[in-house]
Amino acid sequence: GEGRIRQDKTHSDTADLVCSRHAARDSFEENKSMKIFNTLSRKKEEFVPLTPGEVKMYVCGPTVYNFIHIGNARPMIVFDTVRRYFEYKGYDVRYVSNFTDVDDKIIKKAIEEGVDTVSRRYIEECKKDMAAMNVKPATVHPQATQEICGMLEMIQTLIDKNHAYVAGDGTVYFRTGSFKEYGKLSHKNLDELQSGFREIKVTGEEGKEDPNDFVLWKPKKEGEPFWESPWCDGRPGWHIECSVMSKRYLGEQIDIHAGGEDLIFPHHENEIAQSECANDKNFATYWMHNAFLNIDNKKMSKSLGNFFTVREISEKYDLQVLRFFMLSAHYRSPLNFSADLMEASKNGLERILTCVEKLRDLETKASDSSKTAGEQATMEEADKLRGKYEEAMDDDFNTADAISAIFELVKLANTTADESSTREFVSYMKTMIEELCDVLGIITEKKEEVLDSEIEEMIEARQQARKDKNFALADEIRGKLLDMGIVLEDTREGVKWKRA
Ligand code: AMP
Ligand code: ZN
Repeated sequence: GEGRIRQDKTHSDTADLVCSRHAARDSFEENKSMKIFNTLSRKKEEFVPLTPGEVKMYVCGPTVYNFIHIGNARPMIVFDTVRRYFEYKGYDVRYVSNFTDVDDKIIKKAIEEGVDTVSRRYIEECKKDMAAMNVKPATVHPQATQEICGMLEMIQTLIDKNHAYVAGDGTVYFRTGSFKEYGKLSHKNLDELQSGFREIKVTGEEGKEDPNDFVLWKPKKEGEPFWESPWCDGRPGWHIECSVMSKRYLGEQIDIHAGGEDLIFPHHENEIAQSECANDKNFATYWMHNAFLNIDNKKMSKSLGNFFTVREISEKYDLQVLRFFMLSAHYRSPLNFSADLMEASKNGLERILTCVEKLRDLETKASDSSKTAGEQATMEEADKLRGKYEEAMDDDFNTADAISAIFELVKLANTTADESSTREFVSYMKTMIEELCDVLGIITEKKEEVLDSEIEEMIEARQQARKDKNFALADEIRGKLLDMGIVLEDTREGVKWKRA
């Protein structure tokens, strides 16, 4: 029947897609014209991989003591899109992103909740959110607590090379003065840093030789998790974990290191110091940083009450909308989150999905005759729009302009494809939109979305049925809601509902 034909069709589309990617791989020597803004040089630079055809990238992941918030979602979505675009261009990408699972906030939360599974739980929740945002799992998702051996080793190397020292209480500090290039990423000068610090005396850090020095290993406090080490029972500083995990899973030198712009200093500056001093090699060629996500033009913070987790947003929107919203701005521009902008993104995404749905429908009905001259001309126009899309993405991943190119393509398809179109033409337009959306991680299948308002109408109808003593109908409605994944709860204040 029709279902089978469709299935075969999809299969051959996939084959075409794979073939076109192989072709891209074969010719990538000629089309490596990608530019990346490098925080190190503060310039856009041409992307030249360490190994032809390969990209090794490391993205600093979240500290897992709670559900991730929508600010954390920005680097996840942005760098997943960077990865997808490299893959589209034919590169093999090794993508490593860590979970920081030992840190003060996690320990505090564990003590509050009286459990030691805080990080395990929130890693699982984070992975669920990532899947719902269509963020691909990393090639490796290392966890700090699983990598302590590597950290002890790197710290020892740094001590042996005089780049680190042990204070009286067993704390190990990195000696920033021993690394001439310290400050090169954040464009800070050590002397400036020092004078800024001069007045500050941090208690517990009396063993520091220099205010700029930072912790590699610190002694345990009562009740905290700890590991044995040659210096003291304790735990690692935050920065060392990324240097170690990056080295273990990607090697001493990588192409791209990325994260939010708040990580430039001190986190990434310190990672560079550790890695380059331990390995005597340049660490990462390109440093990429996304700008911050704000809420209604204010910094997101719990105390301002303008703080949203990804999970909260998922109760109102399909997370594809959040993804589309995030990519509607360039990743280096601050992005403002508001209900209006989310609505606009929802409508924009809807326009694309409706177009693809229409093309799929036309495809099943289209004739097998050969394409017309008019269709040929439209396909060439479409090729130009793909070119425009690639040009935008090649220019430091300008997803905002890439999305504009998709909208132009949608408009072109909407105004040209109809019941009289040939299958070759319809498939061509459909596949192109699907492929360009896929690079952005946008799934072009429409989901049957159940709106809050529909649910509330059904609950209303159930209440009425109960008033009318039509309990059969009331139960039927409750059953229907349950099938839709909606659970009702009758409380004294009325009926409450939630998505299961
Ligand atoms: P954290 O768990 O705080 O280490 O953050 C994980 C990642 O989210 C880091 O790359 C941060 O830079 C990034 N991040 C945190 N807050 C925001 C925000 N409001 N906007 C964009 N990125 C953020
Ligand atoms: Zn990191």
